[in-house]
Amino acid sequence: MTQAATAETITPTSGFAYSILGESGVDVNLCYQCGKCAAGCPVAYAMDYPPAQLIHAARLGLDELVLGSRTIWLCAACETCTTRCPQDVDIAKVMDAAKILAVDRGINPAVGEVRSFHKAALASIRRFGRMWEAGMVLSLKLRTGNYFKDMELGSRMLRKGKLKLLPTFAGSRRARRIFSRVKKVEREADRPE
Ligand code: SF4
Ligand code: SF4
Repeated sequence: MTQAATAETITPTSGFAYSILGESGVDVNLCYQCGKCAAGCPVAYAMDYPPAQLIHAARLGLDELVLGSRTIWLCAACETCTTRCPQDVDIAKVMDAAKILAVDRGINPAVGEVRSFHKAALASIRRFGRMWEAGMVLSLKLRTGNYFKDMELGSRMLRKGKLKLLPTFAGSRRARRIFSRVKKVEREADRPE
């Protein structure tokens, strides 16, 4: 005799699903695997696990799979999936939460260039108060060693005035204050009670 499905059997919970809930406020157990998120994701073609699969893995507690995936680092945070989800699962937030948990656990991003991009972008914002694209491109190239990648695109952007050669410093003092406040909050959170 087959056992009838109950709420308990069809709604798996896992410690990892709770970690995601704690970090993002999103309950992945609401997902019923319709696949609408994956169907609309513009980056799904490059991901190792499309968004619906990743959410399912989180429900099952497959933390190593989720945190070690390329998916979480390739997500462009466009929120198409979030908008399409009939269950109001904020998938974009889950992706962010997974990135935070991966960094907290010291897991190297499966897509190394993304980490370099984040570091270059943050360094630019901290110094200039906003993104200085030309400087960021240079910094990114130094970090990744991809010196000649997208050269043609870069020179076209320069010709069209889309890349400013010189930075402005408007807002730099404010940005530095924000960064040092964040550091202070992090230090306080790390301090033993
Ligand atoms: S759209 Fe929502 S319910 Fe459907 S698979 Fe994606 S997360 Fe699950
Ligand atoms: S937010 Fe991320 S996962 Fe969702 S559709 Fe955009 S790229 Fe895909």
